[in-house]
Amino acid sequence: MVHFYINLIELLCHGNYSVRKMEGKFKLKACEEIDARSSELNSIGQEIWKNPELGYEEFAAHELLTTFLEKEGFNVSKKTPLETSFIARYGNSEGLKIGILCEYDALPGVGHACGHNLIAEAGIGAALGIKSVLDVIPEKNVQLIVFGTPAEECGDGKTRMIAKGVFDEPDICMMSHPAPYEIPIPMWLAACDLKISFKGKASHAAAAPWEGINALDAAVACYNNVSMLRQQMKTTSRVHCTIVKGGDKPNIIPEYAEMHYFIRGLTDADKTDLYQKVTNCAKGAAEATGCTVEFAINCEMSSINTNKILIELYISNAKSLGVSFNDEDQVTKLLAGSDMGDVTQIKPSIHPLYRIQTAGANHTHKFTQATGDVINQLPTLNSAKSMAMTAIDVICKPELMEDIKKSFQGVC
Ligand SMILES: [Zn+2]
Ligand SMILES: [Zn+2]
Repeated sequence: MVHFYINLIELLCHGNYSVRKMEGKFKLKACEEIDARSSELNSIGQEIWKNPELGYEEFAAHELLTTFLEKEGFNVSKKTPLETSFIARYGNSEGLKIGILCEYDALPGVGHACGHNLIAEAGIGAALGIKSVLDVIPEKNVQLIVFGTPAEECGDGKTRMIAKGVFDEPDICMMSHPAPYEIPIPMWLAACDLKISFKGKASHAAAAPWEGINALDAAVACYNNVSMLRQQMKTTSRVHCTIVKGGDKPNIIPEYAEMHYFIRGLTDADKTDLYQKVTNCAKGAAEATGCTVEFAINCEMSSINTNKILIELYISNAKSLGVSFNDEDQVTKLLAGSDMGDVTQIKPSIHPLYRIQTAGANHTHKFTQATGDVINQLPTLNSAKSMAMTAIDVICKPELMEDIKKSFQGVC
């Protein structure tokens, strides 16, 4: 380690160095930094895990992460642009801008069953690794930006940040996500979060049921219509719901019922097609029961658009750490969605899933156990290192940005 620094300082002081030639040493330095900070990084993951906070209420996680980054010398804009989001910058504001994203929200009832505590740990780890390299490259025009992005499980934390122009700034964005499989290019779906409400008419359920119009019946009919629709759905599409409201007491004909649907498709077109079919199911249910129906879209997410050049770099770097990628055929085993999709549509980005040891899938109690288990720090740090090394590739070989941009524009 000491030897490495002496060599590095010599090279830098004599002005006789090429950043390109230093790529391997920079990668080593980033990995050593992440290893050296592993107990602090573990504390970050553990702290967030022990105190699960729902979307837009991640006040403790926001404080923990922003305080940490401030101590590390980042210029931190807290509560920007949302109450529990942040932007932390390090380095030269001119030139290449590398975005690393952190999530930290939990799920109701099951805590960190999606492992966003580990996403925060991996993001901060990657940032520390990249920062350690920026510190030894004088006058390098690179800025590292850590984005604290809340409320992924609400579906629109990043979407709201995009609407405020936050993601206009970075040239590339990276965020990794724990999962039961190593899936560098997840087929994560476009999604629509939809509220369907039926209005009927209340009446005494025994004395004068014929006076009533049963909104719960409309909801049940809608549920059943959608269940039959599943036969004709594409295997890559998904629709799921809860009945949020279905009346107050059995002896009152329910005059109001509300359903909460997630509708997903591999493409925006698939999602829109399924949306039309689901809303037709609801309209048919309303017609059959005499109710009126209303639709309100809470939020929408785009599918993940993985940048081919960036992910090839990430995979190569992860392999150099001993990570194996033999699960590509498992890709359809984990269809989900993320507001990271919207980031990937506007900036060259990656959102690889990395394998942790778990007895259950995401959003299960078993996955919650796994994301709090210290055994899963190793894959989390490997993912942090892989992102840091990918950033170093782009820093050391500026021409890569041209290929990354072309790939993003679909030119190659
Ligand atoms: Zn999730
Ligand atoms: Zn998640």
